[in-house]
Amino acid sequence: MINQSMRALGEKRSVIRELFEYGRARKKEIGEDKVFDFSLGNPSVPAPNAVRDRLIALLQKGDPVRLHGYTSAQGDAEVRRAIAEYLNATHSAGVTADCLYLTAGAAASLTVSLTAILNPGDEVILLAPFFPEYRVFVERTGAKVIPVACREPDFQPDPSALAEAITERTRAVIVNSPNNPTGAVLTEENAKAMCQVLAEASARFGEPIYLIADEPYRELVWEGESVPYLPNLYPDTLVCYSFSKSLSLPGERIGYVLVSPRAKEFSALYAAVCGAGRALGFVCAPSLFQQLIPDVLGLTVDLSAYETNRRMLFESLTAYGFSVVPPSGEFYLFIKAPGGDANAFCERAKEQEILLVPSDDFGCPGYVRLAYCVTTEQIERALPAFGRLAKLCGL
Ligand code: PLP
Repeated sequence: MINQSMRALGEKRSVIRELFEYGRARKKEIGEDKVFDFSLGNPSVPAPNAVRDRLIALLQKGDPVRLHGYTSAQGDAEVRRAIAEYLNATHSAGVTADCLYLTAGAAASLTVSLTAILNPGDEVILLAPFFPEYRVFVERTGAKVIPVACREPDFQPDPSALAEAITERTRAVIVNSPNNPTGAVLTEENAKAMCQVLAEASARFGEPIYLIADEPYRELVWEGESVPYLPNLYPDTLVCYSFSKSLSLPGERIGYVLVSPRAKEFSALYAAVCGAGRALGFVCAPSLFQQLIPDVLGLTVDLSAYETNRRMLFESLTAYGFSVVPPSGEFYLFIKAPGGDANAFCERAKEQEILLVPSDDFGCPGYVRLAYCVTTEQIERALPAFGRLAKLCGL
């Protein structure tokens, strides 16, 4: 018989994808400009010109066999060396090419890292609200999700709640900063407190508890915020990075896993990452895009469009009476559902052709997520609909 849990996953799309598909169909029905789709984190800002220029140069002048050929399973050594040099220059990270495993985006980085670490029956702590796919990635390994709520209203992780949730079966904690969906950026103080909790628990149980830093939004921070570099605070860290959001390349599927060179069992852990990449069929990340990376490290898309969108939406929605978590990073707004029922509120929003994602699958009911990585023009068109929605909700 086929695998029933895989069948169930295939038959039931994620709530985000479900809405995205609904939006596509609805746009065909009533017109592109009549649907205000804020469902998916699909960047609207184009990739930097340097990406296009470098790709053209590669296609015109590169060795066609190398360009489209297999690389080493863990990624081209020169590319990994360039990333290591960049990380060392930026974070004094002390990494080498052999700490890196190139992947098809952060999703692959996460499944590789989790598969490398977990055995059936293990526990993984997810700080709620969390990216819903984490649950799929964790449960596939036979491990169990243990949600731990972040503090409200700032949505910073709560180190004492984390300490209480750890058991001898805890193998990993996933930290996502800047956070999807809240926009919270982990403070240095909180990061240190969490790392202290993990170090003490690892010592108590005699086994490392891994910190998995999921960082596809690292560069998307607002108003002078910066994101603590966790491998410098905690040795048993794996960073799951991707160029999907910083360079607007989500469809090209390129990212990496960084295994901290200070991890206690570094060699075994890196070998397990390579093994997981092999077992999952993720060897050799897309070759053309691997070769692009050395020339675009440190570049980002023009972030000013996201800043404009964030400011415009935050100010307008707050003025309409919605309660919105002030975002410090990434491109989502987390909005309290008036009346407390996120699904009912999303249905009401749909009647105004506004597509928002209910927060239930993020492990934090009562909110909705709005992805503002859309054109500023869409936001301008959507504001009157938000005004009507506010009135319908009695705000
Ligand atoms: N992690 C988080 C928190 C995300 O929001 C996403 C995508 O939206 C991913 C991971 C997956 O990113 P990628 O497109 O690089 O696989």
